[in-house]
Amino acid sequence: MATATKTIRQKLEYRDGISHYFETTQELFNRVAAFYFGVIEAHPAILSFPPTQALTKLEQLTHVTATNVNPVMPLLEVATNVPALFRRAAIHAALGQAHAFFTSLAKWRKQKEEWEAKLQRKQNRSPKDQTQRSPKFKLRPPVPPRHWNRSVTFYAGQYKELNEDFILLKLYNGQDWGWFKFGHSGRPLPQGEEWKMGSPQVVRKGKGKGKWDYRLHLPFLKSFSSPAKAEKQVLANPELKICAVDLNLEENLAVATILNSEGTPLVTRFIKGGREVNGFRKRLLGWIAINRSKTGLLKEGETDNIRLWQQIKDLDENTAHRVSRRIVEFANQNGATVIVFEHLSNLKPQKGKYSKRSNLKRAYWLKGKIFNYTKYKAWELALLCCRVSPYNTSRECAKCHAIPLVRYAEGQGQPREGYKVGAPLVYCPVCGMRGNADRNASIVIGQRFLARYQNLKEKPPTSLPAMVG
Ligand SMILES: [Zn+2]
Repeated sequence: MATATKTIRQKLEYRDGISHYFETTQELFNRVAAFYFGVIEAHPAILSFPPTQALTKLEQLTHVTATNVNPVMPLLEVATNVPALFRRAAIHAALGQAHAFFTSLAKWRKQKEEWEAKLQRKQNRSPKDQTQRSPKFKLRPPVPPRHWNRSVTFYAGQYKELNEDFILLKLYNGQDWGWFKFGHSGRPLPQGEEWKMGSPQVVRKGKGKGKWDYRLHLPFLKSFSSPAKAEKQVLANPELKICAVDLNLEENLAVATILNSEGTPLVTRFIKGGREVNGFRKRLLGWIAINRSKTGLLKEGETDNIRLWQQIKDLDENTAHRVSRRIVEFANQNGATVIVFEHLSNLKPQKGKYSKRSNLKRAYWLKGKIFNYTKYKAWELALLCCRVSPYNTSRECAKCHAIPLVRYAEGQGQPREGYKVGAPLVYCPVCGMRGNADRNASIVIGQRFLARYQNLKEKPPTSLPAMVG
């Protein structure tokens, strides 16, 4: 079985007076979690038990009941009026943190031991070196968290009546608990029985000037049978369709082509809008540069830039989500079960103005973002994402595989010799193929992926270049 998870982030609607209750609830949650972290530190053997048993052991050590009158480390000394399900959520937060901490501590100890053993061996080999000062082990040990700042997890019983628009949360005001109803809005919750919801969290986010905003995070989990490995799909499924994607820095942000198992292109989708995104981002970066040059004179310059950077971040995020969603939809609608990209090649350093250089860098990062988002969106539908070598993908002819192609722009008349970077059309001097440059690159990417595995099959005799076309 495979699983996919996603978190739906929702805006919570609440009056200003209520936000204080989120704070007191979160403070209590962290006080309880920090207390349990301390209990685990004092009884580290607890970590060797599975979660449910570890929870029982921790409650025996801390929780007063009719049969457990004198626990070793009573929770009552740190906090009173802690509902059972709130306590359990805090215990799980502490257990998670403790597992992470003790794992990295064990790793650090092992590194230190190995380092010392190595030093010892060296000294045994040449004892005269002992007079020399030996280098110290410099890596610092991990430290347990000093401040606890976890978001509150609401187990069933601490929240209720969740629907598309509302949720009821049990909150602490410093003395008592009460139920509060909140509106929430944002992305629609995933439909379909296969998605199971986990425990909601209320997440605090800085709004600047010491103000906080509280959001609702709803985690969803889906289980499905694992898709076959890429190699198996290529070798065992003659009906296989793949979706090959060429990502770009220009107008065509992505060009996706569906190929059958033979490597024949079936249909292509152009996902455009690169010019608008790049133009808008470049303008924002230009304003940032202007503000920077004035910062010495204008204090406001910096706050302005925070807003501008946020706009750039939002632009890139939204673009990455939009493009990745369209790629996955296109692949899925056409029955493709594997999506193929090329590895990102290194970004060549650019000369020129700040806005131009930064814009290119961010456009390049955007490609990475689109790949990552496509990968997790595809996985929810049990589609695989793979990558191939980017070597010459835009200079190779998809028909006869000759290198290099001639790139030219429309209206240039007969394509001439040479390779004009960024020109939209290609012409192959070997086989006479003409077509869109980005579409050609996407087909080459798909064929390269298929060839990786088809080489494992018996190879048919290759025809001589003169016989092609
Ligand atoms: Zn050709």
